[in-house]
Amino acid sequence: MDDGPAFNADYPDVWTFTQDNLFSDAHRQGLKTAISGYYWFEKLVPQEAVTDHFYTPGEDRIADDEVVAGVMPWLQAGQDQFILIHLDQVDYAGHHEGGAKAPAWNEASTRVDNILSKIVATLDLSKDTIFICSDHGHVNAGGHAEPIQLHYWSHSLSLVLASSLETMGTSRW
Ligand SMILES: [Zn+2]
Repeated sequence: MDDGPAFNADYPDVWTFTQDNLFSDAHRQGLKTAISGYYWFEKLVPQEAVTDHFYTPGEDRIADDEVVAGVMPWLQAGQDQFILIHLDQVDYAGHHEGGAKAPAWNEASTRVDNILSKIVATLDLSKDTIFICSDHGHVNAGGHAEPIQLHYWSHSLSLVLASSLETMGTSRW
C-alpha cells in the first residue's frame, strides 16, 4: 500500500491513501473486505472499499480482545475474501510497558500467539492464505530510539506466510 504516512501521525492528521491499494482493488473485483484494528485504518483505507469493519483507538490487550471479538464472526462466516486484523499489544508493550527486554513484552507476544492460533483455526489453508507481518522492532528500552534509527525499524521484524502452494499458484487473492 503506497502513500501512507511513513511515520506515526496523530489521528486527525492521518490521510487516506490517494494511490491504488489492495482494498480498492479487491472492491473493484467485487470482493468483500474487512478490517478489525486500530482506528488509523478508518482514515488510511478508502472506506467505500471496506465491507465489514471494527475500529478502536485502543492499543493494548483489551483493545486486541475487542479486535478479535470483532473479526471472529467474519472469519467463521467466510464472507470476506480479504481481511486485515491489526493486533497492537506487542507494540504497546514495547512503547509503554518496559520495552523489548521487559516481561510484559513476552507476555504480550504469548497472548498474540494464542490469538493467532484461534484465527488460524478458523481458516482452511487449502484455500486460505494468512500473511503475518510487523512494521518495526523496538530498542531494548522500548520505542524506536531517538533520534529515530531506521535499522531498529527492521530489527526483529516478523514475516510469516501460510498457505497451500495450490492456493498461491492459482488465485489472485
Ligand atoms: Zn510502534
